[in-house]
Amino acid sequence: MNELASRFTAVEAEIAAACRAAGRERGSVKLIAVSKLHPAESIRRAFALGQRDFGENYAQELRDKHVELADCAGLRWHAIGRVQTKNAKYVAKAAHTFHAVDRLEVAEELSRRREGPALRCLIEVNVGGEGSKAGVSPDALPSLVAAVRALPKLELVGLTTMPPLVDDAELNRPHFRELARLARSFDLAELSMGTTADYAVAIAEGATMVRVGTALFGERPK
Ligand SMILES: *Cc1c(COP(=O)(O)O)cnc(C)c1O
Repeated sequence: MNELASRFTAVEAEIAAACRAAGRERGSVKLIAVSKLHPAESIRRAFALGQRDFGENYAQELRDKHVELADCAGLRWHAIGRVQTKNAKYVAKAAHTFHAVDRLEVAEELSRRREGPALRCLIEVNVGGEGSKAGVSPDALPSLVAAVRALPKLELVGLTTMPPLVDDAELNRPHFRELARLARSFDLAELSMGTTADYAVAIAEGATMVRVGTALFGERPK
């Protein structure tokens, strides 16, 4: 087995184990392979292994890979990074799901630019407090949820968080738990949380999508 295949096998085994430990079905957690800064060829190889969901952070990189990999039928692009309003059109065109709504202006632009089926989206919440600056504060969430739900071409499906980078994944457990509580309070089914550093803990706390890059593709090229 080549290195990429063995990395995918190892992550799959850890996801399955985390699901078993939590009493969850394996099918309740989707693996998003975060391919940002890796070449399209790496995505092609992962696609050949059966991976279908890929995460990209940068709108222009997503735009280019979407074109380059247009022949990979069934590949789903997840835009997982915050986007500038002027680049929202690339996300609206290429993405299956957008994980990082952090202000109404971007949501409105995505809705304006989206053609075809509504874009599934998640609001990014800053549950980590001062350690992480990305996302809206829990206080601002109710009004943003209501405003996004009113947009015709967006389908609000869940919440995302990117907690601070820590050495001990357990330190992020309270943040994941809080995000799950918030999602329940708005009747949102999807929870995008957990990276290479902490996806097993995130699954224990209810993640439905884990965003794993380094454990699958290795260190990102600079
Ligand atoms: C890069 C990135 C990831 C993946 O991080 P790894 O540590 O490589 O698993 C997940 N989520 C977001 C928002 C990212 O930017």
